[in-house]
Amino acid sequence: MIEFGWGAASEVGRVRKNNQDCLLVSSPMFVVADGMGGHKAGEVAALLAVEHLAGNTEPSSLDGLVSLIDDANSAIIERATDDPSTRGMGTTVVVLVGMELGNEPILGVANVGDSRLYRRAEHGLVQITEDHSLVETLVRDGRLTHAEAAVHPQRNILTRALGIDEKVLIDSWLLTPVIGDRYLLCSDGLFNELSNMEIQTILDEIDSPDEAVLRLVSEASAAGGHDNITVVVVDIVDLDPLPSVGRQRVIEFHPALPAIERTQQAVVAEPKEPSNPVFTWRLGLFVASIVTVMTVLIMSIAIYGRSGYFVGISGSDVAIFKGRPDGILWFDPTFEESVKLEVADLTAKELKAVQSGVTFDSLDEAKRYGFELYTQAKTRP
Ligand code: MG
Repeated sequence: MIEFGWGAASEVGRVRKNNQDCLLVSSPMFVVADGMGGHKAGEVAALLAVEHLAGNTEPSSLDGLVSLIDDANSAIIERATDDPSTRGMGTTVVVLVGMELGNEPILGVANVGDSRLYRRAEHGLVQITEDHSLVETLVRDGRLTHAEAAVHPQRNILTRALGIDEKVLIDSWLLTPVIGDRYLLCSDGLFNELSNMEIQTILDEIDSPDEAVLRLVSEASAAGGHDNITVVVVDIVDLDPLPSVGRQRVIEFHPALPAIERTQQAVVAEPKEPSNPVFTWRLGLFVASIVTVMTVLIMSIAIYGRSGYFVGISGSDVAIFKGRPDGILWFDPTFEESVKLEVADLTAKELKAVQSGVTFDSLDEAKRYGFELYTQAKTRP
């Protein structure tokens, strides 16, 4: 048995209109989910993930935890299929759960996306989970530094999320619980605003987890609050019996296969906040005409948003997408086909062009450009 102490807080921040983050604190299980999708779809996805984790028997093994998240993924895809207004929704999820292994207490961790689990250590914060994001892939490939990644304009592009693909890749860990250890689960709204040092200082200075989470959330909001901020602090208060495996924290790490991730997972871009329709009911007499104008406008935007093709980046590969590189309102680009070329094979100039998306009117033209890139890369000395 693990006795936990915890505190949890979530705030919309200063820019977004909705809070699409969701959290679960149900000892021995702690979850943060960060939803994405136009309108309220992101909230639906995050809530579905959390509901699924809360509504089932707690997992007794890492396999059980992974299959629970797998089921949550299916539930989100099913809902998006049934309800077209939520199509394209997705969510991150990071879970910390107390379990037993051979009568000894143990911690299970699982992660999809870029919400994080940290452990506070004497020498600084230790990030346990790995982000499944475009910038993290570029850091791993040595193409970006951590400092560049932290301020990269495309740092919100995920390479994995729940709700996107029937086969979701879930990383998982087994950790040794140690009395006095403090864990932090959070959405990117926290670590994009505060440095590791600032987070660590708050976790060190404030003993009460309830007060620590409030301070973390309020400081992240004061620092800009560009996104929803969600924080769960979990303390290991007592253990019975004490684990016999010593103080080495990470006992097992099961990364989902990155090679499969690169070929199978499409890039998931967090859409920008859709702007409010310019529509007012006060102009009663003009409502009908406004509705007509709006309909025509939205249809034009839809046609424009879904027209054309561009060559861009999917995970670590170059790929062809249908639509506009940044999407238009809630009309996001969709993956069309792979160019069978890795980002790593591009020159710096080609990479820069592909990062912002090279647009074409037809699929044939996009294919021709993709083939040109491919041939140049393959014939380069
Ligand atoms: Mg977020």
